[in-house]
Amino acid sequence: MTSHLDIPDASMAVDDASMAADDERAHEDAAWQDDVRAGVRHVRDLASLPLSPAERAAAQAAATRHKVRIPKAYLDLIDWSDPADPIRAQVIPSPEELAEQEGEFDDPIADHAFSPVPRLTHRHADRVLLFPTYQCAVYCRFCFRKESLTSIGRGYTREALEPAFAYIEAHPEIREVILTGGDPLSLPDKALAEIRARIEAIPHVRLLRIHTRVPVALPSRITAGLVQALQGRLMVTVVTHFNHAREITPAAEAACRTLRQGGFVLLNQSVLLKGVNDTVEVLEELCRELMYRLGVKPYYLHHGDLARGMAHRRTTIHQGQALASALRARLSGICNPVYVLDLPDGGGKVPLGPCHVEARDGETWRIRGQDGEVRAYTEVVGHP
Ligand SMILES: *Cc1c(COP(=O)(O)O)cnc(C)c1O
Ligand code: SF4
Repeated sequence: MTSHLDIPDASMAVDDASMAADDERAHEDAAWQDDVRAGVRHVRDLASLPLSPAERAAAQAAATRHKVRIPKAYLDLIDWSDPADPIRAQVIPSPEELAEQEGEFDDPIADHAFSPVPRLTHRHADRVLLFPTYQCAVYCRFCFRKESLTSIGRGYTREALEPAFAYIEAHPEIREVILTGGDPLSLPDKALAEIRARIEAIPHVRLLRIHTRVPVALPSRITAGLVQALQGRLMVTVVTHFNHAREITPAAEAACRTLRQGGFVLLNQSVLLKGVNDTVEVLEELCRELMYRLGVKPYYLHHGDLARGMAHRRTTIHQGQALASALRARLSGICNPVYVLDLPDGGGKVPLGPCHVEARDGETWRIRGQDGEVRAYTEVVGHP
């Protein structure tokens, strides 16, 4: 099983009780396959787009550093009259990507250093990252794993994942398996069902997590067949990756509804990107619409990783902290993401958001309230 999105007519058939369901499935699958086919699949497809001369000049070189792929549904969100359009900024290669800086890394969060077997990263005792594929439905210019994704031929095969499954089996402390990549939902339903069943057979695993941009970039791929492939014994959490409220379309809404109705918990992580979502108004609208319209809880707001060629999209930490403070003041708790930095060298994700503790004197703390005023808080605890 190696078929991926670049083989749009790959067989998606699953065993089914009724012919009616089969027809429905075939219809749903045709829809997303059309979306892939009509989008940008190769760098040469960029030629038909109204790119700026600079973008046109950069396209070939940038695409050799990081692949180009944009499904039609996502491409259609671009407002071509705006050179700074936040959707365009995420997917169209730009000359700035070629300007790599000192201090940027191939592997900014040390996935490889914590990889005991191929296709698995184990940094925190209770959870692992599993990489079933290194292909995506869309290639984001700012991707922190772009160096891993550039190598071709690293699609899904059952054999390629077997050492990772054996590792999970041998480590009873692992409770969460996080499918990431690449984009796990770029795999066919059959492959997803196979992976899910293999993980499910490991008794100590409790939760399956899926990190994906498919509900954003290729929402038509979220079909009844896909939901069914993921349903089983495990609690399933789908972590989406919306970066801007403009990505929240009726199609994305339908995709998230399908996932919620399938019984999955939905969370979102965003990347803070200069020129895309680095204002409080944009982030506020994004977080509200995620929660109130899609039923997707904002989970993390990531500070831009030190991926190569991405200096032009990074904000300072200071700017990020100011945004996080403003969001905290404007949004309800459930609409608020945690602003985090994923440290290089495998230090993990650490919150950088507003700290309200100003000082401490013994049992008395000086803590800044949400109104900005600092108050004394004296601890009262029983001493045995
Ligand atoms: C981000 C990440 C996780 C998941 O972390 P959570 O804080 O649970 O979302 C797990 N393992 C690795 C290596 C990671 O980078
Ligand atoms: S979908 Fe995720 S892994 Fe794929 S290119 Fe975008 S950010 Fe990177």
